Amino acid sequence: SYNDESSSDYVSKIPTIKFTKLFINGEFVDAISGRTFETIDPRTGEVIAKIAEGDKEDVDLAVRAARHAFDNGPWPRMSGYERGRILSKFADLIEQHIEELAAIDAVDAGKLFEWGKAVDIPSTAKTVHYYAGAADKIHGQVLKMSKAFHAYTLLEPVGVVGHIVPWNFPSNLFAMKVAPSLAAGCTIVVKPAEQTPLSALFYAHLAKQAGIPDGVINVVTGFGPTAGAAIASHMDIDKVSFTGSTEVGRKIMQAAALSNLKPVSLELGGKSPLLIFDDADVDQAADQALLGVMYNKAKPPFLDAYYIFTNQGEICVASSRVFVQEGIYDELVKKLAEKAKDWVVGDPFDPKSRIGPQVEKRQYDKILSYIEHGKREGATLLTGGKPLETKGYYIQPTIFTDVKEDMLIAKDEIFGPVMSLMKFKTIEEGIKCANNTQYGLAAGIITKNLDVANTVSRSIRAGTIWINCYFAFDDDCPYGGYKMSGFGRDLGMDAIHKYLQVKSVATPLHNS
Ligand code: ADP
Repeated sequence: SYNDESSSDYVSKIPTIKFTKLFINGEFVDAISGRTFETIDPRTGEVIAKIAEGDKEDVDLAVRAARHAFDNGPWPRMSGYERGRILSKFADLIEQHIEELAAIDAVDAGKLFEWGKAVDIPSTAKTVHYYAGAADKIHGQVLKMSKAFHAYTLLEPVGVVGHIVPWNFPSNLFAMKVAPSLAAGCTIVVKPAEQTPLSALFYAHLAKQAGIPDGVINVVTGFGPTAGAAIASHMDIDKVSFTGSTEVGRKIMQAAALSNLKPVSLELGGKSPLLIFDDADVDQAADQALLGVMYNKAKPPFLDAYYIFTNQGEICVASSRVFVQEGIYDELVKKLAEKAKDWVVGDPFDPKSRIGPQVEKRQYDKILSYIEHGKREGATLLTGGKPLETKGYYIQPTIFTDVKEDMLIAKDEIFGPVMSLMKFKTIEEGIKCANNTQYGLAAGIITKNLDVANTVSRSIRAGTIWINCYFAFDDDCPYGGYKMSGFGRDLGMDAIHKYLQVKSVATPLHNS
């Protein structure tokens, strides 16, 4: 079903767009070329704003500012405590602008406004708070040398960091990358995705208000092959942290290798499995498969349970492959078909909507072509399978049954509201199915049997395992991939170490 715009007054929440230029050395500036690009409202396909289109020479300017701030500025030199205080202020300012930021991501990315207010933006602020608290707890070790030496490690900020961010979580991923690198004492150049540049510019403005010195945070909006590629191959960037597709991740690594051998960390695609065992409660399992479960109870009721269709399926950890043990397969399929009816597709500002539009026309077309492919390959359509007959990039939540592991829909990351259901018999077979992918980002297990949960969680090659829950992200839980889902971890204290160098220092104890 679809919520008609005329049915409520939610439209009034659309924000005024204040920041559309590059943020370099503490100022909003036009691109050197003077060029702009349009950012599109996925609810309508119409232009929201014209954004400065940064390219190589703008990246050069931003890197120069970041380099100067790193080599000569106060940021890496102040105490961790002082950096933490400023980052806390930044987090507080984000908290004071939750509604505006949620509205910006809703028009730019098609994300549900209520969701943004309740989840995305508060957790963005929380991530900044987490790393604010970590800034004064970064220290090396005292080492034991075999001779009479005093030896220790110093953890030093790696330098100028380039962050390349995708469009599906413009706020959370911004914080996940930016906050630990700033806590470590680095200075940064951020390139948000061209589909969703608006909130990153707003964060830059708040960072300045919080007292983060000029040049420490620079935001260059623009396209991947130009601005993004300039970051990856820049000779004066010391580290690149990337989240996005596996295909582009490969290019980033290549560019780093061909330029100054900067270390990279890559958080890439996924095709995460959810294994539902016979002993599961079918009703709950169906909710988890459809939606997953939120731990935090202080959320609007419709956010209590969510999953594959959450964020329009635009989640790298989406449990897009659901394997159900044969004893409850039929019952679960029935339940899913019933429950999927509750998933109202509609305007992200309408509180009744549970699925908004896909981020852009290109993704929308790609998802629809995968759905067509699934039908042609012989999978059975249980629900959905069609776009909505309205303007904007809306797609019905789609569940396929009778999916075979070698079908394209079971192998490729679709990044849309499309679930593939498959059957398995034994635990061993379930593990084999789960691991039958080039990716290894996350996996879910639903069972009451502790032995099964323990065995399976240790056997799946993925960076995150959720047992009887899904999407249980938290600032202290490191997050990243095995296999072709990339390497390096975001979140947790592990993320800080991506932005630090380890230096060993040794001196003799007796200088005779
Ligand atoms: P998606 O396919 O989900 O849009 P991408 O991997 O294409 O994801 O994009 C993620 C981020 O990487 C975006 O900020 C995009 O602009 C950037 N990007 C795309 N191509 C390149 C490239 N060749 N070099 C550097 N960054 C790129």
